[in-house]
Amino acid sequence: MGGKYTPVMRTTVAIIGAGPAGLLLARLLDAAGVDSVVLESRDRAYVERRQRAGILEQGTADALRAAGAGGRMDREGLPHAGIELRFARRRHRVDFPSLTGGRSVLVYAQTEVCKDLIALRLSGGGPLLFGAEALAVEDAETHRPRVRYRHEGREGVVECAYVAGCDGFWGVSRRAVPPALVQTYERTYPFAWLGVLADVPPSHDELVYARHDRGFALLSQRTPTVSRLYLQVPEGTDAADWSHGDIWDELERRTGTDDGWRLRRGPITAASVTPMRSYVHEPMRHGRLFLTGDAAHIVPPTGAKGLNLAVGDVVTLARALVAHHATGDPAGLDAYSATCLRRVWQAERFSYAMTAMLHRHPDATPFDDRLQLAQLDRIATTRSAEADLAEAYTGFPLD
Ligand SMILES: Cc1cc2nc3c(=O)[nH]c(=O)nc-3n(C[C@H](O)[C@H](O)[C@H](O)COP(=O)(O)OP(=O)(O)OC[C@H]3O[C@@H](n4cnc5c(N)ncnc54)[C@H](O)[C@@H]3O)c2cc1C
Repeated sequence: MGGKYTPVMRTTVAIIGAGPAGLLLARLLDAAGVDSVVLESRDRAYVERRQRAGILEQGTADALRAAGAGGRMDREGLPHAGIELRFARRRHRVDFPSLTGGRSVLVYAQTEVCKDLIALRLSGGGPLLFGAEALAVEDAETHRPRVRYRHEGREGVVECAYVAGCDGFWGVSRRAVPPALVQTYERTYPFAWLGVLADVPPSHDELVYARHDRGFALLSQRTPTVSRLYLQVPEGTDAADWSHGDIWDELERRTGTDDGWRLRRGPITAASVTPMRSYVHEPMRHGRLFLTGDAAHIVPPTGAKGLNLAVGDVVTLARALVAHHATGDPAGLDAYSATCLRRVWQAERFSYAMTAMLHRHPDATPFDDRLQLAQLDRIATTRSAEADLAEAYTGFPLD
């Protein structure tokens, strides 16, 4: 749409936010012939470079394929059939297909998912305005809601039939729901993740989740030549406080085993700190406003669920919006919040359990340490416990 727009735009669905949720929703609506306008406060380069999630459940990968966004993902994504747990200098591999009836995950970065969806939208979909900040959602409880926004220094309005709040945890959509109608559930954690990107091939061919008395560590990957690595650090840590040498030393300490495995080191190209939070906003609908993804819920990243939940919400919402728009049938929209929240709470439960099992709480006692080790040992020796982890990790059904 370039820089041309009128201060009042009319569309069927106003989508606030061009993260994975907003972009996939726009694509699904384009494919069904339902028009939409996407407002994104940041510029395109920022959205395409923002380092975040990287594990796609099978249901997420299938949803992207069905949306026509799976071509590059299938060429460049790295299929992973398991993860490794490390504790007490031992390792245990959890084999997903044999425990779940064939399911696995795909490693493909959120940055790439967003690039693919942006390219699709710009090559023939409806408007996608970068640098367009939504200021407020108005009249959500009526049949003609509106979104006020600012773009290139001017204020404008999108008049629509439905609003999708896909604007992440810090967006404006949630504020349109009267507080008296909202119930929120939240847990914050006294630790965070220091995440780095390094120009070095991964040290292991699958993800490594390590529990250590000094804290959690995760060895992950972006491509065959780029590693993504994380360390548990105290809440409020500044990434600049850690030298690159200290980061490598600490990763080596926490992931070390007694069988000769070695961590590969290389140049660190980016480092940042992610706080940990669990959060759910209920309900996920207010009138004609529908909240999706991080706008409605946050999980700590230990279970790799954030991006996958956003995709689940959007698949459910797109189906309901298309049905309502075409036939007036409200059943899907009426069920939207409850359908998503069932899945969300399963992801909250799993993400919390993984976080509690693998991170060292600052107040942990020797008793707590032994409980964590007992839980890991149970997974390593009991098929039902291992299968429970594998099923939750590879994903909850999208319906
Ligand atoms: C630093 C970080 C690291 C993460 N790492 C992982 C991980 O390793 N694994 C994992 O599973 N999950 C991870 N997550 C979570 C995962 O990335 C999110 O769950 C996912 O991005 C949710 O997608 P979304 O589209 O709902 O929200 P977002 O990706 O947050 O997208 C929201 C979009 O809305 C835009 N926006 C906000 N306000 C406005 C406004 N007023 N007007 C217009 N646009 C607006 C934002 O700029 C953004 O582009 C991480 C999250 C963060 C913050």
